Amino acid sequence: MYVFKRIKPLGWCLLFILFIIPCYLIFLLLDKDSKANEQKHEQQSNEVLAYTDKDAGEISEESYYSGLRLYSELSDTDEYTVSISYPLTGSEDIDQPIQSWADEQKELFLTEVKAMEGTSFPSHLNIQVETNKIGHNIYNIVFNAYHYYGGANGITHVTSFTFDIDQNKHITLHDLFKQTYDGTFIEKITSEIQKEIDANEEYAAFIMFEVLEEQLQNIDEWKWGIKQNTFTLYFDKYEIGPGSLGPVTFKLPLNRLDSFLREQWKEIILTEEQPKTDEPTEETKDERQEEKQEQQSNNIENYDKYIALTFDDGPQPNVTPRILETLEEYDAVATFFMLGIQVEYYPDIAVLVADQGHEIASHSTAHSDLSLLHKDEIKKDILQSNQMIEDTTGVKPVLFRPPYGSYNNDVQEVVEELGLTIILWSIDSLDWKSRNASTVYATIMDDVEVGANVLMHDIHPTTADALPELLETLTNEGYQFVTVSQLLELKKQFGPGPF
Ligand code: ZN
Repeated sequence: MYVFKRIKPLGWCLLFILFIIPCYLIFLLLDKDSKANEQKHEQQSNEVLAYTDKDAGEISEESYYSGLRLYSELSDTDEYTVSISYPLTGSEDIDQPIQSWADEQKELFLTEVKAMEGTSFPSHLNIQVETNKIGHNIYNIVFNAYHYYGGANGITHVTSFTFDIDQNKHITLHDLFKQTYDGTFIEKITSEIQKEIDANEEYAAFIMFEVLEEQLQNIDEWKWGIKQNTFTLYFDKYEIGPGSLGPVTFKLPLNRLDSFLREQWKEIILTEEQPKTDEPTEETKDERQEEKQEQQSNNIENYDKYIALTFDDGPQPNVTPRILETLEEYDAVATFFMLGIQVEYYPDIAVLVADQGHEIASHSTAHSDLSLLHKDEIKKDILQSNQMIEDTTGVKPVLFRPPYGSYNNDVQEVVEELGLTIILWSIDSLDWKSRNASTVYATIMDDVEVGANVLMHDIHPTTADALPELLETLTNEGYQFVTVSQLLELKKQFGPGPF
């Protein structure tokens, strides 16, 4: 007995060595595996889930601006959101400097985001473009890159490019104006700006003129635009004055610079052909409003199994027409939350959507996270997109879906002030994430219910692929398709949702 008792602890030791230690090793191995898995998972969810219109295939459709097509890119991750849009011509000589600038802005942004890892601020980058047509196939484009990394204010970087597609080159101020090298032109501009400052109390009080003068010395660094006989100079926020001034813009009448403008440009700029105007006549506008009202009151009170399909971020020339075709086939109406910039570049498609009786609603100008902007900027953005939509389609939007579904009190107040209603969604198809038709279909069908408001995007070909099966099934199940305005009426419910 005594011996047995003495051996027993030894046995435990052996057991420990032979059994517990290997177990521990296996555990360690498994743990490492699961950690690796976790990391992989994290990486996946942090991956840049971007949309670029490269995914939608080469755009063959001409945009509103001949020779230009709009490149768009959207990213939505846990740490940040990015939305970028700029025109491309297809010529490397012209496109490369534009793309490089946008890429640099994005790199700058991503580096900053990485440096902030661990903080919970949602960062945001929005690159917007203003397109000015100078002459036939000659454009001046002005970029505004808004960087936001938390806190009260973001940073804006402005830049501009001017190019001639037919000549396949960028145009400098030396090409446009005389006496740019000897300082005479700079002197003239400086004195014109001085006049503008004197006429503006706020500018007179806050602009640091010596800094401005110094900035003006390097003409190749100017950020400038030409539009409707106006020569514009842009300065970043903080560049020539305190942040309270925001980015500063001087608009100088071009006729005051007449003696400097080179002869061949006088001809081009002054005989500038206006871009084709698709503006609807008052008559077609009224007709469309009437049609719309008619459709809205289309006996929907008898509807009992209804659903609203919605499409954001378009119109997009490769995808939106495909979606319209399928909707027509199933006699279904939907609501399109359009971006002002897409409507500006692809007005014909916006008109097509309106003509087919769908509801046209607003989704901001260029997909900014509006909750990160000041109230006056929010208002400017929404007004601009609504104006673009109304001028193009004749339909005044009454619904507004904030990009990323992100809004705060300021956004809500502005939206109400403008007579709009904020609309979110009740079913997220996550089509931007899966980019897979059967997943889009399954995601929606998993949650489908009467009164649902389904979020999709008419920029992904895979969403257009998913639609026929979705509409077939919903129709077979007895669903009636309504616009979001009709949905609100049926539910007698106003406010952002979800519904
Ligand atoms: Zn969107």
